[in-house]
Amino acid sequence: MKNKVICTLLWNHLYLNNEGYFLPCCNSNEKIEELKKRSTTILENKSLDNIHTLDFIKEIRTDMLNGKKNIFCNQCYEAEEKGILSYREINNDLFSDTYKELISGLGDLNDKLKFEYVDLRLGNTCNLSCRMCPAESSSNLIKDLEVLEGRTFTSDFFKNTNWYKEENFWNNLLTHSDSFKKIYLAGGEPLLINETWDFLLKLIEKGVSKNITLYYSTNLTILPKKAYEIWPHFKKVNLSLSIDATEETYEYIRFPAKWSKVDLNLKELDKKFHELNIESAVVYTTIQAYNYASIPKLVAYLSEFSFIDHYPILNILRSPDSLAIDKIPKEIRHREVRELKKVLFKASTADYKSKKWKLNFVNELISYIEELKSESTSNIEDFKKYTVHFDKSRKQSIFNIIPELKNYF
Ligand code: SF4
Repeated sequence: MKNKVICTLLWNHLYLNNEGYFLPCCNSNEKIEELKKRSTTILENKSLDNIHTLDFIKEIRTDMLNGKKNIFCNQCYEAEEKGILSYREINNDLFSDTYKELISGLGDLNDKLKFEYVDLRLGNTCNLSCRMCPAESSSNLIKDLEVLEGRTFTSDFFKNTNWYKEENFWNNLLTHSDSFKKIYLAGGEPLLINETWDFLLKLIEKGVSKNITLYYSTNLTILPKKAYEIWPHFKKVNLSLSIDATEETYEYIRFPAKWSKVDLNLKELDKKFHELNIESAVVYTTIQAYNYASIPKLVAYLSEFSFIDHYPILNILRSPDSLAIDKIPKEIRHREVRELKKVLFKASTADYKSKKWKLNFVNELISYIEELKSESTSNIEDFKKYTVHFDKSRKQSIFNIIPELKNYF
């Protein structure tokens, strides 16, 4: 029988966020600031051998072993209550041997972490400065966000977001590599980070690479030669491709990327899918005010590929709230949303190449669109502030993307 509380990730998973903080996983966003205060960064702690002694890890483990839901894992428990497949359930299935051990009573509060799954958010070194990204994902946005959000970034922030440059970290991680099954790399832009390529080479030299499946979240503005040399030595490679639209709308959001380059890389990836040892390549789209109307065009574009998935994963933008779909005035938004709903209907009935979890995103977006119907007038002021700020510095114009907005600016 399935356990309703326990999660393998508390026993078999290393997660370091963009600032190098140890956290339970990428999904434990509930009370994140409190978690950070109770955690430590890899720069402070230096060692990977004592993570199981962190007090919040002990607290969550204790609750799980006692059948109690911990608040830091609310995201998963709430999803499950709504009938949505949670990250907890996905990982319990993926690491079924560890899960079976835990539910048969073999898990202990003081167990050392087993490094089966390593998830690293490699600071904020990125070649892009996408309109909706936080400074934690791209250092290029710091100056803009200081103006737009009145935020000041401390010297600790700058130091912490460079955590992945610590050689000792990689050497320490290598000592745990006999247990590795899955490595997830995100940034910033992970394909730009030389430290990861060097580390992957060491895994090949050590003879453990064939046990490991690699996962990347990449903007695919580059496809380095090293990928051809290194990826075939691993079990398989899975790519989440951050692409929000095609052509002009793409360039508007993901400045200063060029659509022609990304288009070439996607075609190259599709052609060399097997040579590169790819298992899956799926486009992840952050759905927001700028691109909700462009999704049908993106889906039509993707339908030409042989191996890249034909439907993007549509992830609703939650932050910054100023760029969410509901900021577009209702009268403009409604017409386009009808087209988007048609695409979503097709996506929900499509035979996805990989797994039921993708439907979570489709269903979530459908309910979100339904909720939008009942909301009253849109507050467009913050949207205007962000849009005008970036339009000015980038010499772009929102009216080329959504001409109807002319009457509102
Ligand atoms: S229960 Fe969910 S939030 Fe908690 S560690 Fe597991 S996957 Fe992460």
